[in-house]
Amino acid sequence: MTPAAAAALPGAPFVHWRDGRLWLEDICLQTLVEQHGTPLFVYSQAAILSALAAYQRGLAGRDALICYALKANSSLAILKLLAQAGCGFDIVSAGELERALAAGADPARIVFSGVGKTPAEMRRALQAGIGCFNVESEAELETLNAVALAQGDGAPAPVSLRVNPNVDAQTHPYIATGLRDNKFGIAHDNTLAAYLRAAALPGLRVLGIDCHIGSQITSEAPYLQAMDRVLDLLAAIEARGIALAHIDFGGGLGIDYHGEAPPAADALWHKLLARLDARGYGSRKILIEPGRSLVGNAGLCLTQTLYLKPGAHKNFCVVDAAMNDLPRPALYQSHHQIVPLSAPAPQTPARVYDVVGPVCESGDWLGKDRLLAVRAGDMLAVLSTGAYCMSMSSNYNSRPRAAEILVSGASSRLIRQREPVHDLWRLENP
Ligand SMILES: *Cc1c(COP(=O)(O)O)cnc(C)c1O
Repeated sequence: MTPAAAAALPGAPFVHWRDGRLWLEDICLQTLVEQHGTPLFVYSQAAILSALAAYQRGLAGRDALICYALKANSSLAILKLLAQAGCGFDIVSAGELERALAAGADPARIVFSGVGKTPAEMRRALQAGIGCFNVESEAELETLNAVALAQGDGAPAPVSLRVNPNVDAQTHPYIATGLRDNKFGIAHDNTLAAYLRAAALPGLRVLGIDCHIGSQITSEAPYLQAMDRVLDLLAAIEARGIALAHIDFGGGLGIDYHGEAPPAADALWHKLLARLDARGYGSRKILIEPGRSLVGNAGLCLTQTLYLKPGAHKNFCVVDAAMNDLPRPALYQSHHQIVPLSAPAPQTPARVYDVVGPVCESGDWLGKDRLLAVRAGDMLAVLSTGAYCMSMSSNYNSRPRAAEILVSGASSRLIRQREPVHDLWRLENP
């Protein structure tokens, strides 16, 4: 895409061309690169809040709690922004619990998901007073019960059971989680027995039911199907005398990486609530756990072109961001749009490139077969990198992690410094 092609970019809200340069809200991205270097993650506060507002509109008037799944992007400044906007959090580790608390989260608005919670993590979460444990196996029920009974005050642990509704989310196999063969949740057929067991354990207080069927879901059908199956289970559980105060429908809504057209959060929830009402559960407390759809389209990764490497079969554009910064292409063969930060210099030929990083792995690519008019030194933006990029980044090849900037209107703030290289061996004993 060239600056002439469009003023706004699809899949990148609040990103637009102005005077031959790429801007995010009212900040020219080139100036951020000049101040902070590359690779550099930049997030739009307006994009995050508008994504949240779509959910808030969809759930308006209901007893609902939006628990942001912070593994999507766990930068403290973003957590703080979402906490102040009314979000709770969905955590999957004690580390995420401490992060959420450090960002000012209300512990009562935290739910704890994950198949492998350790007793130490359970103890810490009980002590902090989290809202609910989303328990994923019968064995975990027994461990949590024992941990709660051994706590000083003996208060029971609030639990919900994550059920596996056996629904195909129609997404990449690595991010489908609601099928029978996935490691997540309690198998559909074992759910009733697990609830009866939970209700009989004195260290547990049964609070709700939850599911999460996968990620990057781009149609409403899997959600409607999962809702029906969860409500069928809920009816069977309540028929046995176990009341469930809340229903947690998980996260998973997809974003526009490359022309996908997922339902808007408000439209999706209007549909889902109509179904919930029709089945008579409309006044139940509702929890949801969106991650990607709140932050994914709000972030860009800025990177500098280091070398152009023309070849007989392939041209390579070598940039200074890599799979350690942006693991999604290597992990899921995912597509991120890549656009220049400025209009190309005159006479720059447009060629088809594989955009690759410096890491010593053939899997280290950011984009394949991209038509780009670039020269060495030019800056590029990798779009839709607000979710599952920085939070999945590593130090492979002893590469320090990138810096992060939060933009709001005409102001920008460094929310994470570039990692100093000597920090990489700070914990080592040579
Ligand atoms: C990862 C995860 C989420 C968030 O998924 P998104 O696709 O990012 O919305 C929600 N709930 C659970 C249990 C998860 O593991």
